[in-house]
Amino acid sequence: MTGRDRLDTPIMLASSGSSSARTPFASSTIMIVDDEPTTIEILEMFLQGEGYDHFVTTTESPKAVALARQKRPDVLLLDLMMPEVGGLDVLRAIRNDEELRHLPVIILTSSTEPETKLQALELGATDLLAKPVDPSELALRLKNTLTAKFYQDRLAYYDRLTGLPNRRFFMEHLERTLRRAAGGATECAVLYINLDRFKQINDALGYKVGDALLCAAAERLARSIRPTDFIAAPGIPGIDDPLSRVGGDEFSVLIPSPSAVEGSERVARRIVAGLAESFHVDGHELFLTASIGIALFPADGDDIETLLANANIAMSHAKKRGRNDLQFYDRSLNSASIQRLSLENQLRRAIDHKELRLYYQPKVDIETDRIIGAEALMRWEHPELGLVGPDQFIPLAEETGLITSLGEWALRTACQQNRAWQTAGLPPISIAVNVSAKQFENERFVETIRGALEESQMDPTHLVLELTESVIMENPTKTAKMLYAIKEMGARVSVDDFGTGYSSLSSLKRFPIDELKIDRSFVQNIPQDEDDAAIVNAIVLIGHTLGLTVVAEGVETLDQLAFLSRRGCDTFQGFLRSRPVPAEDFQRLLREER
Ligand code: C2E
Ligand code: CA
Ligand code: CA
Repeated sequence: MTGRDRLDTPIMLASSGSSSARTPFASSTIMIVDDEPTTIEILEMFLQGEGYDHFVTTTESPKAVALARQKRPDVLLLDLMMPEVGGLDVLRAIRNDEELRHLPVIILTSSTEPETKLQALELGATDLLAKPVDPSELALRLKNTLTAKFYQDRLAYYDRLTGLPNRRFFMEHLERTLRRAAGGATECAVLYINLDRFKQINDALGYKVGDALLCAAAERLARSIRPTDFIAAPGIPGIDDPLSRVGGDEFSVLIPSPSAVEGSERVARRIVAGLAESFHVDGHELFLTASIGIALFPADGDDIETLLANANIAMSHAKKRGRNDLQFYDRSLNSASIQRLSLENQLRRAIDHKELRLYYQPKVDIETDRIIGAEALMRWEHPELGLVGPDQFIPLAEETGLITSLGEWALRTACQQNRAWQTAGLPPISIAVNVSAKQFENERFVETIRGALEESQMDPTHLVLELTESVIMENPTKTAKMLYAIKEMGARVSVDDFGTGYSSLSSLKRFPIDELKIDRSFVQNIPQDEDDAAIVNAIVLIGHTLGLTVVAEGVETLDQLAFLSRRGCDTFQGFLRSRPVPAEDFQRLLREER
């Protein structure tokens, strides 16, 4: 697949039709295999008259398959009767070849035997032409075959939604371009574009709006790229389709140019600027930004895998730096990601190596001052780094998907621990486990909870799942479904870090929740800070109006506790009573309760 002319062919086909019109497939490569040099010459001359320009020919049939692999023709005209290796054998070999199996093959045969023709069709010949070839018939059959191939390619190489080339196209295009550039003094740049936070929009507004937005964004991206960005390089065609959609919300641009650095930066800046204006989709005004990573050939990699991986690394850094920006790949990015990678690998093994710990922090009833629950908080006992806090590894675990197994481990361990305390005759308490967004997104999460409850035999009402306000509000419909499934099992739900998100009272009412946890940031400055005091007061009121238990986290002073007590807050948690401690220490705290 090359070139814009292919894309435009449907229009040209519709407007042409007369036999005198030159072919719309002028850039197609036609391969001819015939043991008669004269036949090849005649065919070639005739087809040139029809406007075809690119030919690959051979009289030696044993070399045909290798040549086809190398030159990647769009169609093959294949003689049937040849010494050494006959046409049927070549055809068979092509149909069995991973890369060539879809190549259209038109068989040229002087044989009048219907038997041979049938055999050729059975072997997958696309069409048959009698020799000597009638020129106008050949022209017509060739056009039909190439048209069919064109539509087939469209399906295989273009994205249906945006009409842009797809990932497969991009990879093959990149591979060809690199191969051609490798000899010359030409550079190439690969831009890896990721739309920031597209998933959130898609989740919040539904896939229809998401799809429409993607199409609009694709159009903007395409408009940000101009022919002048590509200073034509000798021997490097294929700048007609520089933009591809390579993933859900990911696009790539290939820029072959002797000055790829300037060219790619210009394009990237134009893309960022082009997205700045809002989109209007289905009555919504939406804003999109993009993070762009750029890798250069040959400096940043001389094969497609390395080049793409490095463009991707650069893109992630642009994202980390606050999104809506571009970043050239640079070796230091790689060493940062290698460090990250090694931490990631260590974290991957942490469960098996039994390096993870749960610490427990008491949740205390403000009125009676008794421990009524515990929050399980994860720690990583790293062999070299020592005790690592969750803020150091939970984000990495979320990014890499490891949080699913880490979270499951925490849930099971916490349930088993609580059950063990109860079996040991300690006062029964509830156990709270933190749930991250990634875990909650996963449909199987409900099963994970069920498994942990069954395995531990703990009373389900003793399990509290702490979900942050933003996780709950991100996808209200899905959240409600999930929460009802959790409630049905008997477990309870707590809204963590409450006050930092954007929940409204009415949206809270929609969810079957049991508890609000006032975020530590509000508790910190009470009672002095009047704003915070007012917020805490309001949260307690809201919570009680909705029939929820209200918990204050991060309580460090008696002043704070006295204020909370006056306002009717139900439960507190904080260093004032105890830091999070290992299970044995917590057990001692519980025993003292009796
Ligand atoms: P969080 O859910 O808000 O947990 C409360 C954090 O506040 C804990 O930090 C706790 O040690 C700390 N804290 C408690 N009382 C006080 C206090 O009086 N003063 C101060 N300054 N801090 C207090 P930690 O243990 O470092 O955990 C940090 C965050 O990591 C947690 O915030 C939670 O979001 C996450 N996390 C911890 N364990 C898990 C887990 O098993 N799964 C998931 N998904 N997240 C976890
Ligand atoms: Ca929590
Ligand atoms: Ca918190």
